[in-house]
Amino acid sequence: MSQKDEWIDISKSKNIDEVRNAKEYKDWVKSIKERDNECCVLCGANQHLEAHHVFSFKNFVPLRLEPDNGITKS
Ligand SMILES: [Zn+2]
Repeated sequence: MSQKDEWIDISKSKNIDEVRNAKEYKDWVKSIKERDNECCVLCGANQHLEAHHVFSFKNFVPLRLEPDNGITKS
């Protein structure tokens, strides 16, 4: 089983805390913020940032780790 396949199992977990604590998820958050230059894409703020899912984390499971499904927001 490849790394990618393992992640898919984690991402389908009903335990959202488990997903959010997974290294793969943390890496996604980090990559979204880095791509957006650590700034809110809406207002340019650089504090209290979070990687926000455009299509919701809860309802769009296959998109949880899609770079295109994340934006940095304050
Ligand atoms: Zn903002």
